[in-house]
Amino acid sequence: MTIKEKIEFLREELSQHNYNYYVLDNATISDYEFDIKLKELEKLEEENPEFFDANSPTKRVGGGITKNFETVTHKNRMYSLDNSYSKEDLLDWEKRVQKNLGTTEIEYTCELKYDGASINLTYENGKFVSAVTRGDGFQGDDVSTNIRTIRSIPLSMKGDFLSDFEMRGEIILPLEGFHKMNEERISNGEEAYRNPRNTASGSLKLQDSAEVAKRPLDCLLYQVVTNERKYKTHFENLKEARRIGFKIPETIALAKSIEEVLEFVNKWDEKRHDLPYETDGVVIKVNALQQQEELGYTSKAPRWAIAYKFKAEQVTTVLNEITYQVGRTGAITPVANLEPVHLAGTTVKRASLHNADQIEKLDIRIGDTVYIEKGGEIIPKIIKVDLTKRAGNSQETIYATNCPECNSELVRTEGDAKHYCPNEFGCAPQITGRIQHFISRKAMDIDGLGGETVDLLRKEGLIKNYADLYELKEEVIIPLERMAEKSAKNMIEGIKKSKEIPFEKVLFALGIRFVGETVAKKLAKHFKSIDNLMSADLETLISVDEIGERIAQSILDFSNDPINIELIKRLKSYGVQLEVSKESLENQTDKLSGKVFVVSGVFHQMSRNELKKAIEDNGGKVSSSISKKTNFVIAGDNMGPSKLTKAQDLEIAIISEEDFIALIK
Ligand code: AMP
Ligand code: ZN
Repeated sequence: MTIKEKIEFLREELSQHNYNYYVLDNATISDYEFDIKLKELEKLEEENPEFFDANSPTKRVGGGITKNFETVTHKNRMYSLDNSYSKEDLLDWEKRVQKNLGTTEIEYTCELKYDGASINLTYENGKFVSAVTRGDGFQGDDVSTNIRTIRSIPLSMKGDFLSDFEMRGEIILPLEGFHKMNEERISNGEEAYRNPRNTASGSLKLQDSAEVAKRPLDCLLYQVVTNERKYKTHFENLKEARRIGFKIPETIALAKSIEEVLEFVNKWDEKRHDLPYETDGVVIKVNALQQQEELGYTSKAPRWAIAYKFKAEQVTTVLNEITYQVGRTGAITPVANLEPVHLAGTTVKRASLHNADQIEKLDIRIGDTVYIEKGGEIIPKIIKVDLTKRAGNSQETIYATNCPECNSELVRTEGDAKHYCPNEFGCAPQITGRIQHFISRKAMDIDGLGGETVDLLRKEGLIKNYADLYELKEEVIIPLERMAEKSAKNMIEGIKKSKEIPFEKVLFALGIRFVGETVAKKLAKHFKSIDNLMSADLETLISVDEIGERIAQSILDFSNDPINIELIKRLKSYGVQLEVSKESLENQTDKLSGKVFVVSGVFHQMSRNELKKAIEDNGGKVSSSISKKTNFVIAGDNMGPSKLTKAQDLEIAIISEEDFIALIK
């Protein structure tokens, strides 16, 4: 076998395993063996770059960065769907279809309406070419790099189908994966995602495809778009598409009449809670492609299809108690504790009441019978109180005046919907929350220490703030519940390693209110050290690009607090990076001062992030879109055609990666 054949053989073999595992849910090889083969292919590809293929199974792990998603015009418009909510609506639709076609001989396909983000996949000569979001239906964003990481999407066809076609489907986040992601976020001290749909659609726009690859996304397909008339019906299109590798849910069915459609609707209205993903309705389509063509489109939707929306389930239950939760920043959230009740496939015991205004608006009282509903969100909502069931002696709810954790008097500032506990350094959930934030991935990224352990260490009195982490010793950790020598060692090791984390991340980790990742970066770059930052006055702070009064005031509050001053002193003494390192200072010049760059395409010597950093380190500015203000466009391979035209029209200098490196040398 030649190297080329070997590479092709492995690619095909691995694609087949991906298909078995992610589409058929039937693995025929262990994860371990799969990894060995993948590594082998990776190595061969690395050694033989002339056989590069963007569709290789090795590209599934991601790595490509997209700073700006290219806007692309859809070859075929992506329409919306008309909605219906009742049997009558469906019968009306059937009448319209029959009248338009002049026949009652009509067959329908019934599909579930998958609740995610729609996507259009283009294939040419049996190979995946690009993936574009729906956008406004006419134009969407090219998210191909991210979509390649979704294992259930075939990158090349298994067998004969159409030559050029588009597949439309829904990118979804199955419930199990969604819950796992949230468990991890919570244990990292991060806020849980609210619902699978938004998380799926947010994932498509992540800049780092390696991050997308880590998310358990899936893609369910529902439409073949093509000019070829190889197959006569929509159902056949889907069946054939399934045969060559696409994930078409087995739930699809044919119906001979609206009565049969309604049977499908009723069946799934009940059974939908057993599905591994969310669905909010059924989509009914005229099956014959010839008839679809005759029916055509209105200005916004096909006449040959209609969506039937399931009703959000509502039940009533009794409010037993209102409790109050304290977040990392001290924000208070009131929680309704309910008499447990079955709703939409789960037992509901709690619902969020958001804030004092919400309680007042609902006029909700202990003992009230309330209506709860589960919409798109995981946490159910309280819709209203059933006043007819209210007891005569019921008492108006008085909002908590003191913190449930530390008893401090709560404060509420003008214009803020939430109450806060001001006891920043003495209130347990705030202490735990702040340390959890400190160790989280985007901050100090401490391995070997999770959110629950932080809480345990605090309860045991071993840590009261993040500086205490650096004084932990193995011997005090080992005796703790669920700890062993190995885990204690890992923890201490992880904490020690965090001393290498660069200043900008440390600054973010400190948890200064309103100082998020981006602001921390800006401040680190401008002030270069914590001492410079903490001694800056209001005027100096506000003079920094993009730092407003609110952020500046928050930094001042932090800097003037003796407790924080002491904490910083301690962090310094442990060797945590509290200034920009020498090396990164050395690489900084103002060679590119005043120059605005746009970076587009794929690069070889530097990653896009490295390029961007080099521009900024040398005093230049990176912009996301080409305008008259742009001085240079750094063009890599596959630069977007619309960007290229725009740069040429505006007569902006287009330079290569090599030109740029020469520029800063
Ligand atoms: P809407 O967003 O309410 O206009 O509904 C249209 C959207 O439903 C489409 O853009 C698709 O993303 C989505 N959808 C989900 N499942 C299906 C399906 N089986 N057939 C067609 N569209 C679907
Ligand atoms: Zn408190």
